Amino acid sequence: MNSEEFRKYGHELVDWMADYFEDVESYPVLPDVAPGDIMRQIPDKAPEQPEGFESIFSDFKSKILPGMTHWESPNFMAYFPANKSKASVLAEMLMSTMGAQCMMWLTSPAAAELEEQMMNWLRDMLGLPQHFTGCIQDTASTATLCAILTAREQATQYGINRKGFAGDEKFTIYCSEQIHSSIDKGAKIAGIGQNQVRKIPTDAQYALKADLLRQFIEQDIADGFRPLCVVSAIGTTGTTAVDPIAAISDICEEFNIWHHVDAAYAGTVLVLPEMRWMSEGVERADSFVFNPHKWMFTNFDCTAYFVKDPAALVNTFAISLDILKTDVDNEVKNYRDWGIPLGRRFRALKLWFVIREMGVSGIQEKIRSHIAYGQWLRTEIEAHSDFELLAPVILNTLNFRFRADEAESTLNELNKQIMDNVNKSGKLFFVQNVLEGRFALRLAFGGTELEKRHVENAWKLIREEAVRVYQQFKQKT
Ligand SMILES: *Cc1c(COP(=O)(O)O)cnc(C)c1O
Repeated sequence: MNSEEFRKYGHELVDWMADYFEDVESYPVLPDVAPGDIMRQIPDKAPEQPEGFESIFSDFKSKILPGMTHWESPNFMAYFPANKSKASVLAEMLMSTMGAQCMMWLTSPAAAELEEQMMNWLRDMLGLPQHFTGCIQDTASTATLCAILTAREQATQYGINRKGFAGDEKFTIYCSEQIHSSIDKGAKIAGIGQNQVRKIPTDAQYALKADLLRQFIEQDIADGFRPLCVVSAIGTTGTTAVDPIAAISDICEEFNIWHHVDAAYAGTVLVLPEMRWMSEGVERADSFVFNPHKWMFTNFDCTAYFVKDPAALVNTFAISLDILKTDVDNEVKNYRDWGIPLGRRFRALKLWFVIREMGVSGIQEKIRSHIAYGQWLRTEIEAHSDFELLAPVILNTLNFRFRADEAESTLNELNKQIMDNVNKSGKLFFVQNVLEGRFALRLAFGGTELEKRHVENAWKLIREEAVRVYQQFKQKT
């Protein structure tokens, strides 16, 4: 491709992108495809001869697009949003054009210094303590693994890094029953072992019970284990429950245990001063992670990882290779030593674009509106005799179900049917949750272009489908 062609196709693509942002609502959120449908359309072998860009782009539209799940649609209410904004997409274009690989200061001084400043901005925007510092990681899973590894190394004077496991370590990790699967994964990879992850029961709010955490820790110590790390959550994945951060910090300080706070989704809500009750006690945590790529309008991937003691992080991950040495190593931050990969993308650029283009007030406004829609839907469900909430609605994630005078197992089946039918319509996409054996319809919304009408429409689709499904069920029985 020569530069004239690049210019031409580049403009064409940007036009397509602008149209997509405008039209995304008209696409079925979930594509109507079966396993293998897309692969069948892609040749088995790579082309021997070059192909024209027209035909590549045309295949993108005819073969790939129909197989995409439209995360960008405001009717996407599954999992958590991976929202983005136009400024962030434009920043990605510049990032990939320069193709910078930001493993250390010298490999792009501007990237390293902008990253440092963006982490300062985020820290202050979220009201996190001044002594927190950190860097951008690819995902929260990676950041949590970094926390577990750093806790392990700090507890062993960096001995396992040097000598490997002796085999008699017996470390334990603690989190609530509602915690994200990335904690189990981190324990597996860090050599702690999944069997040593203690899942602490939760209260009626699905938050970790601090008194039980203490009991588990004391029992483990009595049994010869070595408590290593507690992972608490500000916003669990199922219900956005908030663990008692201050009480957990107390226990961690008392037993000298690493306290890692997983705020992957809900961390963004701390831009609102009125929501900072959630993070009370976070100033005594050892590490904190949240994903601007979930709810802060910065497209995937972009995770902010903060630590109290950067020296412990760097001591865990630093490498020393002749080819990587530079004259300024003592004066700069080489972020390759702040995490797992050597190579790093220039993610700070999109944060800088997004935060400036929206302003802190613009971000706050959107987050407030998303929470307000969540609370509006909560009151709707509470007032409806055929529906019930299955968990407290703290933000904009709702767990609820259709209810009728039927057995629990029947209700589970009916609710699954309602979900499947609605998702099949392409008008909305959401997923289930299971709470105490009960099948919950779980809606989580926070798309950039989300308006109240989308939430109203989702509620309407579910109500109408519930009537249909229950009528059919009654006719059959
Ligand atoms: C989404 C989520 C994660 C995992 O995030 P990734 O960035 O995809 O690794 C971890 N914890 C919680 C609470 C989450 O909601």
